[in-house]
Amino acid sequence: MVGRGEPVGYLIRHCREWVDRLISEFEPTSLQQLLETVTAKLGLLIEVIDQDADLASLVSRYLAVGEGGFARVRDDFAERTFALVLRLRKPHNGCAHVAVIDCRGSKASRKWFSIWHEIAHLLVEPQLTLDYRRTGDAHDEVERVMDAIAGELAFHPRWFDLGLGEGGRPALRAFEALRLREAPTASLQAAYLTLVTRLRTPALLLIAELALKESERRSVEGGLPAMPLLRAVFAIGSPTWVQEGLYIPKTMRVPERSVIFRVHGGAWGEEHLAAEEDLDWWESQGKRLRSMPLWVEAASVGQRVVALITPRT
Ligand SMILES: [Zn+2]
Repeated sequence: MVGRGEPVGYLIRHCREWVDRLISEFEPTSLQQLLETVTAKLGLLIEVIDQDADLASLVSRYLAVGEGGFARVRDDFAERTFALVLRLRKPHNGCAHVAVIDCRGSKASRKWFSIWHEIAHLLVEPQLTLDYRRTGDAHDEVERVMDAIAGELAFHPRWFDLGLGEGGRPALRAFEALRLREAPTASLQAAYLTLVTRLRTPALLLIAELALKESERRSVEGGLPAMPLLRAVFAIGSPTWVQEGLYIPKTMRVPERSVIFRVHGGAWGEEHLAAEEDLDWWESQGKRLRSMPLWVEAASVGQRVVALITPRT
């Protein structure tokens, strides 16, 4: 178990060093190969549930070979559970643990992250004591630590870095190409936010969708109508963006003249646009953000818009 107050940074470094030793020893050439190397070394089998039938056949397959612990798996997945890790009574092909990853429905977008989250459990908790652990959406302390470790390992910087120097301008196309090449089952948001936080230049990743602001949400709860508008719902800056004090507040309304607005439910052929804009286009209740020339690239992804914002010099 993770001790209370045990420094998270220490645990992340410990796991990273363990993985880096494996990289030196086995020289995997991709994140997928790294995953295979790590699971082989840990003796961990990964079982993925894509549909209900997969769960039924998995449970009966393991029960048939005397692994009674799988009897509770079906019930546990009926609740909000993303993954489980179980210790086998009889190791199979050198593997003593099985991670069952639920990828049905909306959980599919967490697949890559969920696998690494379960790996983190095995790395941190002594293997012999880990009999059964369920990962749900309850964000307790241990789960948050595992998420932090998973975030570090699932997108190992050896493969997951755009490698742009001081002068390079990042582009969404490069983000997506790297995600598809190295971690195609990772969610776009998780992959892109990792890449942005590793940029050496100022940049902001922003996700916009139709949303209510907090006061409107309360009005709706009180029975009053409110119209959702296109707003920033997620924003994370690169370290140099944050250092420069640049900031777009959450739930701020997207300016109608921005390409972010245009690509949202826009015309065919306008799913991906880029333009020169200014930070002072963003305003709330008559107050504008400070002026700064920007380069804004926006792409429509389902009901959302993903935008990459960089200062224009
Ligand atoms: Zn967990």
